[in-house]
Amino acid sequence: MKNRSLLIFISALLCVSAIVFAAVYAACCSEKQSTFWVMDTISTVKVKGPGARAAAEKAEEITRNLDSSLLSRHSESSLTYRINKNAGGKVPAEYAKYIQTMLEVYEKSSGAFDFTLGNVSDLWGIGTDNERVPSDEELKEALSSAGADKIKVGDGEISFPEGVAVDFGASGKGIALDEISNSFKDCKINRAVVSVGGSVMLYGKGDFTVGIKNPGGEGYMAVLNLGSSFVSTSGSYERYFEKDGVRYHHILDPETGRPVSNGLVSVTIISGSGALSDALSTACFVLGTEKGMELCRAFGCEGVFIDGGGTVYVTDGAAGMLEITDSGYHLEGR
Ligand code: AMP
Ligand code: MG
Repeated sequence: MKNRSLLIFISALLCVSAIVFAAVYAACCSEKQSTFWVMDTISTVKVKGPGARAAAEKAEEITRNLDSSLLSRHSESSLTYRINKNAGGKVPAEYAKYIQTMLEVYEKSSGAFDFTLGNVSDLWGIGTDNERVPSDEELKEALSSAGADKIKVGDGEISFPEGVAVDFGASGKGIALDEISNSFKDCKINRAVVSVGGSVMLYGKGDFTVGIKNPGGEGYMAVLNLGSSFVSTSGSYERYFEKDGVRYHHILDPETGRPVSNGLVSVTIISGSGALSDALSTACFVLGTEKGMELCRAFGCEGVFIDGGGTVYVTDGAAGMLEITDSGYHLEGR
């Protein structure tokens, strides 16, 4: 009888241990992945840790809300839509901060990064049903409304002349990643990789490997080995249309209003800030390799610049992070 009780006791103990182990294992090793469309692009979320599900849901909610209530230029519910219509207005502190960051990049890039090219972008209509090559007169007219030096921000308010079109197209993806990163601090997660279009956030301890897209074909041409950071790529292959054998892409030269044509096809920036990595990848694409590298140094970021001939240029710090995996590409001088 005594032996029987002992047997029952041991079986019950084993059972409880198994349940506790399963619960702890599920909590520590749970993983959540999701993919959704936001900011006119694909977003992917991969999170690991006990709070993975809640964190992934938060990431999607933050990105959608940021777009629809603050950053979208086309959604009537968004603040950017309203300030563009009213030549400014009251803005919350976080919005003023985003504008300040973009103004800093505008100034340090000598205007190459200009977040007021909204009317010029609309003329080209890239990615819409109205893609077309605008006339010189149309470009001149649209360019007269551009120039971020027209923007005044301070004291919870923003103002600019009527007709200026503020556009977060080059920085909104990175801003979303900064906000997601902040929200993850309150979640029980170990690691996360979140992408919004060509901008990626690597979150957590340990190493991460990120591919750089092959600008001239399928798959990846190189990998970057990184720790926790933000990585953004701007490329002429991302959004474009072709007419009479000419490719017209979406990154515009603020001087001419036409797609940048300096030989570069892709620029990747690695930074501790999502907003900066996104804004600087666009800025450096416009500036070209030499001036782009100077801008990277000014912001303490690293960069990988690829030209149409397959030559890859890297900042000093990026050299040790990059492994070229496609034989169609080579490091400058090698
Ligand atoms: P990204 O893909 O981050 O390089 O951003 C490209 C988007 O930024 C375009 O689709 C436009 O909305 C906007 N844009 C184009 N040219 C510029 C520029 N020179 N400065 C800032 N934003 C730009
Ligand atoms: Mg960008």
